[in-house]
Amino acid sequence: MLNILTYGESILTEKANEITEFDQSLQRLIEEMHEAMQRDHGIGLAAPQVGTSKRLFIVGIDDEPLRVFINPHIVASSQETTELEEGCLSFPGLYFTVVRPLAVDIEAVDMHGKPFRISADGLLARVIQHEYDHLDGILFVDRVSPSKRKRALTHYGRMLKM
Ligand SMILES: [Zn+2]
Repeated sequence: MLNILTYGESILTEKANEITEFDQSLQRLIEEMHEAMQRDHGIGLAAPQVGTSKRLFIVGIDDEPLRVFINPHIVASSQETTELEEGCLSFPGLYFTVVRPLAVDIEAVDMHGKPFRISADGLLARVIQHEYDHLDGILFVDRVSPSKRKRALTHYGRMLKM
């Protein structure tokens, strides 16, 4: 079973690499990420969170089929933004409100290397943007004001010592 890395691991703040091989090991990685995400009750997980520097993330909201995004690009974002409380499997127990575009268009390839494009809004758009950020080493704490970020991380540091 894959471990999910938590805040402080350097791979979480690094830019991940493009995927070029669509083989068995990629399929196995996706299956193992899916298991880890379900075990920790997440709705999204990016490969760097399991220690793999690859441009891959998965999204699984409620009972919807698992969505796999490889080498993704957000090609359009709505002007309209929305505030929503986010959590992250790499910051267990930390939640706070983040402002992001309400809707995005994303292009990616699936686990067989086949390109697709979707328009997403609501929770799906939110999870996509959060996971996409992980591929560039950007964490949700980087999307809030410096003072809020400092408060959150101080609080998080305190929680970890408990
Ligand atoms: Zn996250």
